[in-house]
Amino acid sequence: MLLLKMVLYQYLKGNQSPATWFEEAQLNQAMQWLGRGYAPARRTWYEFRDRAGKFIERVHQQTISRALDEELLDPTTGVQDGTAVAACASRHRMVNRPTLEKRMEQLDAIIQDKFDGEVPKWVPATDSGKEDLAERMKQASDVLAERIEKNASKRSDKRRDPDKIQVSLSDPQAPLGRDKLKVFRPLYTVQCVVAPNSHLIMSYCCEPSVTDVGTLAPMMDKTQQAVGGRLKTMLADAAYCSIVDLQDCQQRNIELLAPVQSNAFTESKTQQNPTRQIPREEFEWNPAENYYRCPQGHRLEYLDRARKQRHGDRQLWEFRYRCDPTHCGACLLADRCLRPQSACRTIKRLEGQELLDAQRTKMADPAVQARYRLRGQTVELAFADSKGNRRLTRFHGRGRSRARTETGLMVVAQNLLRLDRLERNPLTPMKMRT
Ligand code: SF4
Repeated sequence: MLLLKMVLYQYLKGNQSPATWFEEAQLNQAMQWLGRGYAPARRTWYEFRDRAGKFIERVHQQTISRALDEELLDPTTGVQDGTAVAACASRHRMVNRPTLEKRMEQLDAIIQDKFDGEVPKWVPATDSGKEDLAERMKQASDVLAERIEKNASKRSDKRRDPDKIQVSLSDPQAPLGRDKLKVFRPLYTVQCVVAPNSHLIMSYCCEPSVTDVGTLAPMMDKTQQAVGGRLKTMLADAAYCSIVDLQDCQQRNIELLAPVQSNAFTESKTQQNPTRQIPREEFEWNPAENYYRCPQGHRLEYLDRARKQRHGDRQLWEFRYRCDPTHCGACLLADRCLRPQSACRTIKRLEGQELLDAQRTKMADPAVQARYRLRGQTVELAFADSKGNRRLTRFHGRGRSRARTETGLMVVAQNLLRLDRLERNPLTPMKMRT
């Protein structure tokens, strides 16, 4: 408990390094007061950080329960968003399969004293360093094989050259993607669900992923667990509003407030495109007879269907509808409606499309838009605080489990600070209800 208090204080000061905690415990009076004079060895701090992963989720749960008991948290509404945090890994040490295989062979020969020639600069000087690198290379090889296999299972037009698929040697578990500054690097994605009025973080996770796709349902379940099933509404951006997400919300009886359009940038880009086809929205859908009617009044009849892969193991049917080529061939709108070299217009419709259409209509309502405005004022503040004030722009420890522990420590530190402020303000509980 003493160590946890000291570590949370260090997180609020923006220090995530156990080596810094060790120094601060020697020199900082506040640390000495929190630890009642206890100043453990450097190694103890590193071991404590690894151990904290086992109980930090429980501490977070206790903080949320206390806020609920004191009526400082309205659990009915949550705002979800994600942010990329750089892994503890160099962006200059990413390798592809041929390079990794070559280096593994070289390192193996060096460890067994069978290497002729000059030892490369990437080889550590000590024996323990070499063994550590050999272990990470083995792990990197497994991760890379998984990535190459996943790439091979993709559609041919989405598949990449296997030799261009890379892995980080510093932290093999971290996926490679672009951060907010568009820098390609190993990173993790942190997801948070924040209560809009109290700004307490109700649930969090840190995943080895470069996008927010597929995180809504797990975060809703986590939040429900934390608040005893009292969550009723989720606010999120368009990345969390696919058909699968809407189906998940429907199953859990939770209302989702999120726009359907990907984002304003994409929309304006699409509108600027001079070769843009007449969009599907201008075709009239007839669900009773299962056909579309085009702007010229002709029917697009059902043609066929195909399975489409979505995040995880989820699949959706995609139905195709086609207009008779004789109508399209003589149509005045053919220039705007058909693709070059195409004889007739085809429209695709995903299973559950009606959910997206209904969501689009709902989000156009001014009353819903007013409720949705809460989103921007909420979750971004938590990320701005952790990155700007607490300097969590890069994880200190390598690997997924340390990244998760560090996220948990930061969330608990932020929540305790916020809870303290809420408890000191006697007027606040009356403002908590949304
Ligand atoms: S090109 Fe075909 S589908 Fe498009 S408006 Fe003309 S007739 Fe209808």
